[in-house]
This record gives sequence, C-alpha cells and structure tokens, in this order.
Amino acid sequence: MVIINLFSIKKFCSKPNVILNNGTKENTTFKFCSSHTIIFWSVIFVVLIMEKSSNNIVPRIGLGTYNMNSEEAEEMTYAAIDYGYRHIDTAAVYRNEDGVGRALNRIFTDTDLNRSDITITTKLWPGGLLKVDRVKNNEGTIKSLEKSLRNLDLEYVDLYLIHSPHAKGKRLEQWETLLSQQEMGKIKNIGVSNWGINHLEELNDKGYPLPAANQIELHPWSQKPELVSYLQDNDIDIIAYSSLVPLSTWRHKDGENSLKTDQMYKDSEDANSPFKKLAVKYNVSEAQILLKWALQLGYAILPKSIQIDRMKDNFDLTFTIDEVDMELIENLDRGGSVTWEYGDPLAIK
Ligand code: NAP
Repeated sequence: MVIINLFSIKKFCSKPNVILNNGTKENTTFKFCSSHTIIFWSVIFVVLIMEKSSNNIVPRIGLGTYNMNSEEAEEMTYAAIDYGYRHIDTAAVYRNEDGVGRALNRIFTDTDLNRSDITITTKLWPGGLLKVDRVKNNEGTIKSLEKSLRNLDLEYVDLYLIHSPHAKGKRLEQWETLLSQQEMGKIKNIGVSNWGINHLEELNDKGYPLPAANQIELHPWSQKPELVSYLQDNDIDIIAYSSLVPLSTWRHKDGENSLKTDQMYKDSEDANSPFKKLAVKYNVSEAQILLKWALQLGYAILPKSIQIDRMKDNFDLTFTIDEVDMELIENLDRGGSVTWEYGDPLAIK
C-alpha cells in the first residue's frame, strides 16, 4: 500500500512542464510536491493505514478480576492503574464491579488520569447456564447493563460483552439490545465472550455487525487455531483469558474451580517443563513467558493476581521470545478448554 502510495504521488508530481507561448517552460510542480512535503504526506498516510488496520479495541495488557472479592478488586485495580495498567476486566457475575468503581473514583481524585484514559470491560450474564438461570430478554439485558453502570459508578463502559453463548434462542435479541444501547452512548464497543464460529455465524446470517472483540480461553495448551483464524479474518479483536493455566500456581486455592486435571497440575510442576526451561533461558518468570507468547501473537491479555509483585511482573513484558521458541510453544497445544468448571462454553449449540 505504502509503495503504491509513493508511486502515485511521484506520478502525480512528475507532470511535464508546460511550454508557454514565448517558448519558456512554466514550472507546474504542485506546491505539495517538494521532497519534504512528499515525505510528510507519506508518513501521515502510513499512520492512517496503521490506525485503520488495527482492530485493537482494548489496551494489550489488562487486569483480570475473576476470583477477587470487592475489596481485592478495589485494591488491585487502584494499584494496577497506578503501576501503568489501562484496562480492567470485570463482569456482573464476578460481583466486584463496585470495588472497581471505588478504585476508579479514587484514581480520578488522586491522579491526573481521566475517564478516557482507562478502558473498562464488563459483561452481561446472559442466563441459560443452569435450568434455574433465567435467560435475559431485551428488558433484562438493559436492566443488567444499568446495574453494572451503577455498580461501576460510570456513565458508559468501553467494552460490554455477552459473557457466553448460553442464552439459546435469545442470543440475537441480546445482541440487538447491545446494538441499541451502544447507539445511546452507554457502551463504546460491543463484543462477546466464549462465542465459537457457529455462534458468530448466526449474527452474520442475520446481517448484523459482528462483535468488535471475542474474549476466549487461550494459552499454549489451548490455542484454538481455527477460531483464531476466523476472528483474525473478520477483524474481531482477540482477548485471551486464563493465559496462566499451565502454571502450578493457577487457581490453586480452595473454591477456585476449573476442569484443570491432576495430571495437568503435575505437568505444571515438572522441573523440566518447557515453560520452566524458557523462563531460565530468557531470565524471566514462567508467567511472563506465557503472557508474552500471547502478546506476540497479537492477543490482548488479562492476567489476574491479588499479589502486587505478581501484578507488576505480569505487566513488565519488554523481552522478545524468538521465532524458534514461538514454534516450540505452538507445538504444545492440547486442544480443549479447562477454565469453566461447567464445561467448555464454546461447545454450546
Ligand atoms: P490467569 O490470570 O490466567 O491466572 C490467575 C492465577 O494465576 C491465579 O491463581 C493467580 O494467583 C496466579 N498468578 C497470577 N500471576 C502470577 C504470577 N506472575 N506468577 C504465578 N502465579 C500467578 O487466570 P484467570 O483469572 O482465569 O483469567 C484472567 C482473567 O480473565 C480473569 O480474572 C477474568 O477477568 C478473565 N476471565 C474471563 C472469562 C470469561 O469467561 N470471559 C473466564 C475466565 C477468566 P494469585 O491471585 O494468588 O496471584
């Protein structure tokens, strides 16, 4: 594109000089054809192209808040933003939106940061996971969004996601509601989470705009190449969650449930595990290897920690994993998902 642009400017500027009646040549070079001006316009063009082709809806490193209570969410949100994080991920079902809201208010009072400096994602619980879990219709969806905004003490959220595809028969209605709420300015970007190709194609079939982002479980043991290609082909921002599944410390406390098996935990502890070896090679932590792998593939990440030193570690990712090691990690895919204890939401029909 850039080469075409430079050629077209050159062609435009090399218009032959006009021979005047008295035999002299008139200099017809356009004012904006000097070499400096051409370079200036080319740089502007490149910047515009890069902006247009970037589908990054959220800052690449965000703080995850699942399994944080309200007080932990307040403390960690404040500390993370203070450290440099500019994206916080929460959800109605995490029951900690109020903690995130309190931290934001303190940040806006204590620092020069404004609302527009911080990206806030929250999620609609769609219903339908269990029999008693009522599926939300248009009205229920609006009420949920209003409640999240009240909890967060915000006028709008930057990204609102349908948390999962469990609302069979009502997915389209929920999507239509999100579109209308976006029109009203209560949401900047609308997206989904845990939606597979079949769910996204339902929107396509009805001619609806596709989501701006899809938040999905992604880590070296669950790489989902087919879904990733689909999302990339359709300019849907990929937000990776549970990046740290291969760590022995991932959700190790009582009540932090998942489908990660005992064998997987054993593999995580293996002193010869590829992630431990890579951590030594690059002189970083295992967590940093897992997070950097995702960033290098262009995914946004949402590491969660209630420990300040880990939160900082998870943000400091300035090293580069070389091609050979990226390929080595690519070969560690085990397929499947482990985060949701009720089963893989991508498998919902
Ligand atoms: P994660 O961020 O992959 O890992 C968190 C676990 O790893 C915790 O047990 C944490 O323990 C530990 N940990 C964090 N940093 C560490 C480090 N540097 N070294 C060693 N251990 C570390 O897990 P996640 O919470 O499953 O996913 C991240 C976020 O994604 C969530 O918080 C949530 O915002 C989002 N998410 C979304 C969905 C969805 O369905 N949309 C599902 C799951 C998650 P400590 O807290 O004790 O440090």
